[in-house]
Amino acid sequence: MKGYAMLKIGESGWIEKETPKCGPLDAICKPLAVAICTSDIHTLWEGAIGDRHNMILGHECSAEVVEVGECVKDFKPGDRVLVPAITPDWNSLEAQAGYSMHSGGMLAGWKFSNFKDGVFSEYFHVNDADGNLAHMPEGMDPADACILSDMVPTGFHAVELAGVEFGDTVLVIGIGPVGLMSVAGAALHGASRIIAVGTRPVCVEAAKGYGATDFISYKDGPIWEQVMELTGGKGVDRVCVDGGGCETFEDAVKALKPGGKIGNVNYLGSGDYVNIPRVEWGVGMGHKDIRGGLMPGGRLRMEKLSSLVTSGRLDLHPEVTHLYHGWDHLEEALFTMRDKPADLIKPVVVVD
Ligand code: NAD
Ligand code: ZN
Repeated sequence: MKGYAMLKIGESGWIEKETPKCGPLDAICKPLAVAICTSDIHTLWEGAIGDRHNMILGHECSAEVVEVGECVKDFKPGDRVLVPAITPDWNSLEAQAGYSMHSGGMLAGWKFSNFKDGVFSEYFHVNDADGNLAHMPEGMDPADACILSDMVPTGFHAVELAGVEFGDTVLVIGIGPVGLMSVAGAALHGASRIIAVGTRPVCVEAAKGYGATDFISYKDGPIWEQVMELTGGKGVDRVCVDGGGCETFEDAVKALKPGGKIGNVNYLGSGDYVNIPRVEWGVGMGHKDIRGGLMPGGRLRMEKLSSLVTSGRLDLHPEVTHLYHGWDHLEEALFTMRDKPADLIKPVVVVD
């Protein structure tokens, strides 16, 4: 089969590989549509997970099942499915402890294009098919369905980690495709005010649609100072961190009220330490929680999140700004994600 692979750090291309084998609990699927993720860019060009040779990239797609193992109960060839980016081993001790995303080791629930071949391929392998796949709702657009792989569950996980409650004022730092889903998730959780950090017009427009009420730019001075100005010096109840770097926590802590929570899903790609300002963290006693996590994955989450789309409460169209047709355009889509033109949120390639 053909797959689009990382050949080594900074180099990619189409390669031939053997079609993966299906174990008793597994499924083999073929993509209907694939989306490019910022993580693919970090992996390929920044060596975020170390060097990989001939590893097929990609972890966001919707798909059709072509084969299932003899122990798989709920899926059969021909089923159209949602595929989460994180595919834990559900019988692991970590999953039993409630941390499926760390099944087999820290962050090891992320398998596609990390420990095994990803989804930019004619066929790909899914472990624990009954636990990880979800049926794609009737009538759902396969391109939209890709956004459910990672952008929705990750953006929403920041909201869960930050513990957004009714009436909260929420700061969302970074409104790329993940941050936009934090805006949408915070609105669904009952936030009264959502302050979004970002300026690209396409993202600002989308964020408004998802419920952002105020906008600031990190280019106009420290985020926390602008937040204090907007909130009459009070700060915010919750912060979702979906962009920035190790220094962003300084702003997040400073902008937060005592008793507030920070939920980070942002990948911290460089630097040795995360900066937490001592005084604004209440000299260690401010009850300002800092939480960070990989999204949990799993079928139940996929089913619940997709029901928000079918019920009309979550519109995924604004996330997909660049739509391509056919594998021939995959590389173009990948390079577009790397180069981030001003009008880009998410590139999706429909392959079938
Ligand atoms: P993105 O690069 O499209 O969006 C990040 C946004 O943050 C951009 O709009 C950028 O302008 C903005 N930004 C940059 N510096 C900033 C600063 N100092 N302050 C405020 N905003 C700043 O990325 P994305 O696809 O939306 O993903 C966001 C992050 O989430 C990435 O780091 C990605 O690797 C990570 N991610 C995590 C998970 C997970 O499970 N935890 C899953 C997918 C992606
Ligand atoms: Zn992703």
